Amino acid sequence: MKYRPLGHTGLSVSELSFGASPLGGVFGAVEENVAMETVHTALDLGINFFDVAPFYGLTRAETTLGRALRGVPRDRYLLSTKVGRYGMAEFDFSAERVMQSVEESLGRLQVDHVDLILCHDIEYVALNQVIDEAIPTLRKVIGQGKARFVGISGLPLKIYSDVLNQTALDAILSYCHYTLNDTTLAGLIPFLKQKGVGIINASSLAMGLLADRPLPEWHPAPDIMRQTVEQAAMHCRKLGTSLPQLAIQFALANQEIDTTLVGMSTPQEVRDNIAWLTTPVHAELLAEIQAILSPIRDMTWPSGLPENNA
Ligand code: NAD
Repeated sequence: MKYRPLGHTGLSVSELSFGASPLGGVFGAVEENVAMETVHTALDLGINFFDVAPFYGLTRAETTLGRALRGVPRDRYLLSTKVGRYGMAEFDFSAERVMQSVEESLGRLQVDHVDLILCHDIEYVALNQVIDEAIPTLRKVIGQGKARFVGISGLPLKIYSDVLNQTALDAILSYCHYTLNDTTLAGLIPFLKQKGVGIINASSLAMGLLADRPLPEWHPAPDIMRQTVEQAAMHCRKLGTSLPQLAIQFALANQEIDTTLVGMSTPQEVRDNIAWLTTPVHAELLAEIQAILSPIRDMTWPSGLPENNA
């Protein structure tokens, strides 16, 4: 496993990191013993960064991850969780709720601090509340020793420049924007580097769209994206390889991204994903797949308030 600095935080993060939303049952039920083994396989194979949120499985992912990490020396892993999103349509970035949320997360995770705390899916609310209330509250949380660094997450890339032009952040978590079919995050990287912000790329499998498996009901991809991706998956299968393999190799090949979070729900997925990092990419296949995916290139879906998507 290779490790890279996360922006200017001084943290050294594994290039492949562990997205814990599947532990909340977001992509289908995960047995408790399988969840425990998955987390331990990740740790044993060198993954040192774990991301979770109260929203995932409505607190279940945090509780499960906390149980899995219980007894593991705290200096063996880095942990990020989030505040502000508590349901499909439940958001609260007020100072009081942010403070309460941090306490609840620390309890479920069974730790006295997290390394990174992110304002979760901020495009759903007026950004001034995040900038003027939530982030300053999280700086107090850092002052209390309950977190070390602060950042934001969300889908529209516009939110990152909007917030970073008004306040400093240690890291951002962008998702579904550096994948086989959408590389729009690349255009923002020079700005993020210039601001010294750690870059976390999440969902290199486009939240399962590129996993060549049935999608969960909540997945927002329109039919055209699903159909086009299915053609790409078929093409890979015909050649005896797999679309998720190519997708993970593609995302991880970008050295400008500090870490790529993949949601993992079985020890086998962890082992496969790590093995793929050292397997040569089939350049001809990559070109063929990108040609198949060209009709949906950089296609996304709206998320949150219209003014945060413009
Ligand atoms: P993802 O693109 O990482 O895909 C996860 C799905 O792919 C799961 O169903 C998983 O079981 C499957 N998968 C993993 N490895 C596989 C393999 N080798 N073969 C086939 N299938 C495989 O999506 P994600 O989990 O949504 O994103 C990763 C993490 O990033 C999340 O768990 C979360 O921690 C974070 N995230 C944060 C936000 C946010 O803050 N707004 C949004 C999305 C993701």
